[in-house]
Amino acid sequence: MNVLTPAELVLKGLGITDPSEIDLEAIAWTVGARVRYRQLDGCEALIVGNGDKAIITVNSRSYPHRQRFSIGHELGHWQHHRGRLVTCNADQIGHVGEGQSPRERSADIYAVNLLMPNYLLQPIACSYSRLTFEAVRAIADLFDTSVTATAIRMVEGRHSPAVLVCHGPQGRKWFARSPDVPSRWFPRSDLDAESFAFGVLFGNQPEDRFPRKIGADAWFERWEAERYEVTEQTIRTADDEIITLVLVTDGDMLEDYETGRRDGTHRASRR
Ligand SMILES: [Zn+2]
Repeated sequence: MNVLTPAELVLKGLGITDPSEIDLEAIAWTVGARVRYRQLDGCEALIVGNGDKAIITVNSRSYPHRQRFSIGHELGHWQHHRGRLVTCNADQIGHVGEGQSPRERSADIYAVNLLMPNYLLQPIACSYSRLTFEAVRAIADLFDTSVTATAIRMVEGRHSPAVLVCHGPQGRKWFARSPDVPSRWFPRSDLDAESFAFGVLFGNQPEDRFPRKIGADAWFERWEAERYEVTEQTIRTADDEIITLVLVTDGDMLEDYETGRRDGTHRASRR
């Protein structure tokens, strides 16, 4: 049986049984926090606590999905770091990859579990047999979350063995990898000119409507990569930014040489 996270316990305690019921301002109020929106400079959100009460201030100029994630993040600080003034800049909220402090990481995990709790996400995610951006967008619509945050959640939540990579003109910005993909599959830092993603970022090509097959060496700089194929699908997240879903479909790529474990067949039921 899955153990409920602190955020899921809050949602369950409120009797929330549908993604549309995740009203963050109302949830904040039930734990003593009031949410307000102000123009903030050099900071995305902050929380000021006094006893059992807190005020969360969110940057009024941010996108709505960003604001929602920020409220979840500040509620994470309220859960884990109560009694302190915490200010969070844009680099600290929803940061992917290394270099994030344990405190910020725990606030992000709380936000993810509050916005996309596993007990609601899992049955919905399981209804999609293939991980595509079409599925990610449909799920993001249900949970009122960004496509990027939802894609990360699906990849890290083991829907399918996959690596999600974000690129800008200067190269790779960050990536997220399913726990079922062995760590030797580390995405290349530069976008390979052979990849379809290259045409989307630099060639003004339209987004990919479906995943397309390509040699794994377009995505992974590793001697054995040329033996395998993966699928890639790219969407644009800003004028100069794309994210690509690289699905690892060959079971041999999922063999973990260090443990001898072959662990790529799990679906969302694992989490
Ligand atoms: Zn923070």
